[in-house]
Amino acid sequence: MNASPQGPNASPPSPNASQPSPQWKRVVVKLSGEALQGGLTHGLDSATLDRIADDLAAAAGLGAEIAVVVGGGNFFRGIRGAEKGIERARADSIGMLATVMNALALEYAIEKRGQPARALSAVPMPSVCQPFSRQAALHHLDKGRIVILAGGTGNPFFTTDTGAALRAAELSCDAIMKATQVDGVYSADPKKDPAATRYERLTHDEAIAKNLAVMDTAAFALARENRIPIIVFSIAEPRAITAALSGEGRATVVAP
Ligand code: UDP
Repeated sequence: MNASPQGPNASPPSPNASQPSPQWKRVVVKLSGEALQGGLTHGLDSATLDRIADDLAAAAGLGAEIAVVVGGGNFFRGIRGAEKGIERARADSIGMLATVMNALALEYAIEKRGQPARALSAVPMPSVCQPFSRQAALHHLDKGRIVILAGGTGNPFFTTDTGAALRAAELSCDAIMKATQVDGVYSADPKKDPAATRYERLTHDEAIAKNLAVMDTAAFALARENRIPIIVFSIAEPRAITAALSGEGRATVVAP
């Protein structure tokens, strides 16, 4: 199934006329580190990585421009490090490095499929990937490459959710596709409360008023201020990203 790795000038798969068209021209897909660990307790599960890379390549094949913001929670979270006595800013630096590991693995898994991809890091480390700049990201998107954004915002005390909202705003994205472990936004945690109900559609203001944990507060505030819709869907479903992008999958839409 795996094609051989492609060089930097490989062309992305072209959109197929029989495929559904994307609902948005340019999106940020937020993938948590947890999404990449599959059934493992931590780290990267190669079958899961391959499945998500396939899905991202198919989503790009619909003709959308895709920037992926990856988390690092499958390796390290700053807040957990701080609980164990590492100073918070330093622990967050370790967390940001964890996101770079995920980005490099995802970049390779996507390129193996013949879909060009570029990892860009907000924490500059030019010997392993290009430093993030808005211009570089826009250039790669324009060339049909999937851009993988590592290092979150590049600052401690933030999360990659906030990184996703920030990049969506600065790259003029039409939506944030937030991949989670459940198929949308619920009135309570459906894994803990069987009476929890699922929302089909919400406004940003409703999500705040109802205190629904869609993304962390800083991320959500940025998305609301910039009127960026957030599509919340389950990454556990096959071809979940492609389906969410074409408006077909089960998802909650948070929109102004
Ligand atoms: N992080 C950070 N600044 C950012 C983004 C992330 O310091 O802008 C650190 C933080 O320690 C965080 C870790 O990187 O815990 C991994 O990111 P996150 O927890 O958002 O990953 P996810 O939960 O999505 O896997």
